Amino acid sequence: MDRPVDNGPVKLIAVSKYHTIDNIKEAYADGQRVFAENRVQEMLPKIEAMNDAKDIEWHLIGHLQKNKVRQVVGKVAMIQSVDSIDLLHEIEKRAIKADCDVNILLQVNVAKEEQKSGIAYEDIDAFVEEMAKMTRVYLKGLMFIAPNLDNKEDLKPYFRKLSDKFQVLKNHKSDHVEMQWLSMGMSGDYEVAVYEGANMVRIGSAIFNV
Ligand SMILES: *Cc1c(COP(=O)(O)O)cnc(C)c1O
Repeated sequence: MDRPVDNGPVKLIAVSKYHTIDNIKEAYADGQRVFAENRVQEMLPKIEAMNDAKDIEWHLIGHLQKNKVRQVVGKVAMIQSVDSIDLLHEIEKRAIKADCDVNILLQVNVAKEEQKSGIAYEDIDAFVEEMAKMTRVYLKGLMFIAPNLDNKEDLKPYFRKLSDKFQVLKNHKSDHVEMQWLSMGMSGDYEVAVYEGANMVRIGSAIFNV
């Protein structure tokens, strides 16, 4: 694929939220190792059921309430849906208690959609600055859920805006900030997202509904 903005190989996350443990086992048998869920209550039993698969990786991609942080810390490879400094501090607190490191992505509401979570684009820098106070939390990149537009080409400016920010933040080198992943793109829009620089795509229906 033609990629004017190339952030390296694209990591495919299989979004299993509407699918059964048997579906996950099937995808695992086919070689898929990274899975994502958007609800803590639905994710935990799936993690449990796949416990023997030691090389499996779970990502949380849905809105995380502060009172549920304790349940996911230590269980997931990445929390992609961190959307406030408040939540960041709760994750740090729980990570210290559990004595483990936690990798996160910062979810950004680039398109300013009211019903979507995500930090405002203008607040990204403040969040990145706050990372200096962390001891067990690592910021690994940015995440964006694009609006559901008919013409996917119309998403380009949003993807490009976050992609440009990602490039800038790559130069921000500190112990707890390492911009590695730009998580944009779902079944309907991943081609445009990858074109604009995504190196992590979250695909549900295009993988499981076949
Ligand atoms: C459901 C979901 C996806 C996957 O959506 P598909 O259109 O099925 O590929 C990706 N990201 C998030 C945050 C989701 O909730």
